[in-house]
Amino acid sequence: MLGPLVAAIDQGTSSTRFLVFNSKTAELLSHHQVEIKQSFPKEGWVEEDPKEILQSVYECMERTCEKLTQLNIDISNIKAIGVTNQRETTLVWDKETGEPLYNAIVWLDLRTQSTVERLINKTPGRNKNHLKHKTGLPISTYFSAVKLRWLMDNVSEVHEAVVSHRAMFGTIDSWLIWCLTGGKSGGVHCTDVTNASRTMLFNIHTMDWDPELCKYFGIPMEILPRVRSSSEIYGLMKSGALSGIPISGCLGDQSAALVGQMCFQDGQAKNTYGTGCFLLRNTGAKPVMSDHGLLTTVAYKLGRDKPACYALEGSVAIAGAVVRWLQDNLGIIGSSEELEKLAASVGTSYGCYFVPAFSGLYAPYWEPSARGIICGLTQFTNKSHLAFAALEAVCFQTREILDAMNQDSGIPLTQLQVDGGMTSNRLLMQLQADILCIPVVKPSMPETTALGAAMAAGAAEGVSVWSLSPEDLSEVTSEKFEPQINPEESEFRYARWKKAVQKSMNWET
Ligand code: ADP
Repeated sequence: MLGPLVAAIDQGTSSTRFLVFNSKTAELLSHHQVEIKQSFPKEGWVEEDPKEILQSVYECMERTCEKLTQLNIDISNIKAIGVTNQRETTLVWDKETGEPLYNAIVWLDLRTQSTVERLINKTPGRNKNHLKHKTGLPISTYFSAVKLRWLMDNVSEVHEAVVSHRAMFGTIDSWLIWCLTGGKSGGVHCTDVTNASRTMLFNIHTMDWDPELCKYFGIPMEILPRVRSSSEIYGLMKSGALSGIPISGCLGDQSAALVGQMCFQDGQAKNTYGTGCFLLRNTGAKPVMSDHGLLTTVAYKLGRDKPACYALEGSVAIAGAVVRWLQDNLGIIGSSEELEKLAASVGTSYGCYFVPAFSGLYAPYWEPSARGIICGLTQFTNKSHLAFAALEAVCFQTREILDAMNQDSGIPLTQLQVDGGMTSNRLLMQLQADILCIPVVKPSMPETTALGAAMAAGAAEGVSVWSLSPEDLSEVTSEKFEPQINPEESEFRYARWKKAVQKSMNWET
């Protein structure tokens, strides 16, 4: 039965999607996807073009609307649009011209490594967790504040725009919402609490920008977007076929996946395998500080008057990105789908371990100087073993953050809910169950990130076409991967992996 429709813009690191769901059943009716170019102008730098990102959103919207029309579905049934996005990626634009003043600096970018080291060296006891009591985060290249500082210090256009009060800072959600609601002709400059909580300028207890943090990083508060809840009407679409439809949901991609997987209870968790890999565990109304290298982050706040919900997060920088590297840099596969076949042709790494620490190591180590290594090579090793080792690397990294999560919470997860682009790789899913020694459960509808954003949009006050109660949604069907190897074998391989990780952190000594 066709109810009101709710749409989501899913702006990820590797692609943009626009998806339309039936609010009665959560069925995905139509979608369109466009790849996003990444540029690597210098070693460790990763950039994307904000205008290309915006264009990809318009293109995905138009093509999805065409597809719906072909299916005889009236696009006027779309009642709300949610936004979910790659988090931390940072840009600055000129509010008078509407032009970005530099490329977006992608979350993976390492250009701020020396700044981060300098900041940590200045803290008492060289403590990377110096700001954690307010932000839930370690001082790292990952978060937006240091990227914004770099833009202000190194791009004269940004510096001048800040001085002349024309600059606007935003993560991708802010950029898109501002542009889609009118841009320089009255666009809304806002972000939601989940995206704000990844900037290092946001106090996760007061739930607002923190003047002391802004002072610490030298960021003028006037350039920051207004912080809103994850589910409320921010503004209306100003142009195109969807003109007049409210944009009423906004969640960072990992929070959106948590919502889309219906992890509303304290203790529920999901792991998303995209460019990176992110395990989030709902900790309810209280922020829990990790003793094992995890982040404390705002999970969602689904309405202006609703309480905020927090999560512990294990972030892995490189997951699907290693697949793209094997494809683009080594050329050993023609597409990400080919990886599974190649790895399955041998079914083992043959003792080869691949630590893809291309952007340093995130959780639980937070070591920006780590670099990728491949070890255990013999004359026998070939590209299939390397492909297998790359998949295993994703699984071992997940094992490390799951172990940290279990230690922090004291209650081990008994199964892992998963989603994201890489989960279409069945070999990866089986390997993951083998390496974790617990079942891995994958929903049959893979677009949980977009679903979460659509749910937030549809549930907003003034829209209210969607209840956020999981019981109201049709039964979510899923596939389960059970562990198939014995735990000793799994432990042996994991111990080897840990040795390889140590080498990736000490490769220069
Ligand atoms: P993001 O949201 O970060 O853009 P997605 O969830 O869209 O990421 O997933 C895309 C990532 O998943 C890419 O890095 C791609 O290489 C990887 N990927 C997609 N399909 C497969 C597959 N069958 N096997 C391995 N990796 C895959």
